[in-house]
Amino acid sequence: MNQVAREARAQERIIGLVPTMGALHEGHFSLIRAAKADCSPVVVSLFVNPKQFGPSEDFQKYPRAFEADRAALETLGVDYLFAPTPEEMYPPDFGTVVTVQGLSDKLEGQLRPGHFQGVTTVVLKLFEIVQPNRAYFGRKDAQQARIIRQMTRDLNLPAQIVVRPILREPDGLALSSRNVYLNADERRAATALYRSLESARQEIVAGERSAARLLSTLHHVIEAEPGVVLDYAEIVDAESLEPVVSLRGSCLILLAAKLGKTRLIDNALVEEGNGVFRVNV
Ligand code: AMP
Repeated sequence: MNQVAREARAQERIIGLVPTMGALHEGHFSLIRAAKADCSPVVVSLFVNPKQFGPSEDFQKYPRAFEADRAALETLGVDYLFAPTPEEMYPPDFGTVVTVQGLSDKLEGQLRPGHFQGVTTVVLKLFEIVQPNRAYFGRKDAQQARIIRQMTRDLNLPAQIVVRPILREPDGLALSSRNVYLNADERRAATALYRSLESARQEIVAGERSAARLLSTLHHVIEAEPGVVLDYAEIVDAESLEPVVSLRGSCLILLAAKLGKTRLIDNALVEEGNGVFRVNV
């Protein structure tokens, strides 16, 4: 992979990288299509990264669908699939970690200690191997995208980070490889996350700016759905990820909830421009 990348760089080609953990869905495909529009070659990495799973998390049972993924990538015209083994990525004497301090400890990081260190460590390795000019991430994992952008800035990495919108099912549920864990009742209830964001969006459009009142709406919608247990609902500044009192600049409305044993995250991006707030759910 590194040799392919060096040759492409030598020819001044624009390398696009889409890092994934496989079990690919339209959310991943949207990143790949965006990469195809801007870059050649496009590299998709497929690696279920053990370092980003906690000891009691779903690493063993995380959905794996290598043959279907490989076929889908071929159909999409992806140039290279990079699918290393855990042993290749982490030989027994592996000893380096990458931590973006501060941003990695909040929100998801508080509930999943070490998660973002696992993410940034593997993403830096992928960047070194694939040498991307551009790397594509989904806003579905908004905190992850923010942390990767910070790592890229802090370490002067030459990759440009592109963050793409969230792809959703027709009923609003954000696409996720983990949705296959949901039973029929949980699947129905799972739309509460989207519905709560949509309610907040309507209130913002109607002029609401208070984070406390918007959070109360989010809680109200989600708590009306039995079986959905909120881990957190927060409205934060999109740069600092610190809670805001009222909407200003760019903010994220971030949600994490459990449905049975399945943990889902979702979010909306609120952007102020010329005094008008646009809400991207
Ligand atoms: P994953 O395989 O879950 O690690 O995701 C790989 C990339 O796809 C990450 O950058 C995710 O943010 C992105 N992604 C996952 N789900 C979606 C979605 N529903 N819409 C857009 N991007 C997504």
